[in-house]
Amino acid sequence: MSDKKKSGVSRADAEAAVRTLLDWIGEDPDRAGIKRTPTRVIESFGDWFAGYAMDPYELLGNSFHSVNEYDRIVTLVGIDFASHCEHHMAPFLGRIHLAYLPNKRLAGISKLVRVVEAYTKRLQVQERLTAEIAKCINDTLEPRGVAVIVEAQHQCMTTRGVNKTNIKMVTDEMLGAFRDDDRIRAEFMHAVGQVG
Ligand SMILES: [Zn+2]
Repeated sequence: MSDKKKSGVSRADAEAAVRTLLDWIGEDPDRAGIKRTPTRVIESFGDWFAGYAMDPYELLGNSFHSVNEYDRIVTLVGIDFASHCEHHMAPFLGRIHLAYLPNKRLAGISKLVRVVEAYTKRLQVQERLTAEIAKCINDTLEPRGVAVIVEAQHQCMTTRGVNKTNIKMVTDEMLGAFRDDDRIRAEFMHAVGQVG
């Protein structure tokens, strides 16, 4: 199921909206240096918000392969990401660590990274981002457990508001064996800690 909403807004209208914002902050939208800025901003939005056109369930649900011989934890440590908070549209940047304990299905590494992109390249709140990635892996691979840790710095806090430059937010979601079995959770935390 794709949750891509069909937008009725034209690209020209979107660029005009950026021009309005430039005017509003006190700029001259016709100044040579920023004349093409609305175009560049909308192009950048295309990258930053590409996740709306991606269906993470389709990405992962159609690509897993079955294995019988590997039943140990699969961990990905340090997936860099850039997302934007839905309250301020300010970037929040960080790293995601994830793991799953396979049951019958294994996913390719690149597919898992694409799932992270599908959810990060949208307006987000970190707590929901964490839960959505875990739920998608859990629903599609039907593993014995899923663990996701997200650590990020939110520019709406580091560059404005409370202005705390080094504050980092850490959220996690532990499902199945990672929630119920201390030993398995510890193994994951150890793998994450190794890389720091
Ligand atoms: Zn924010």
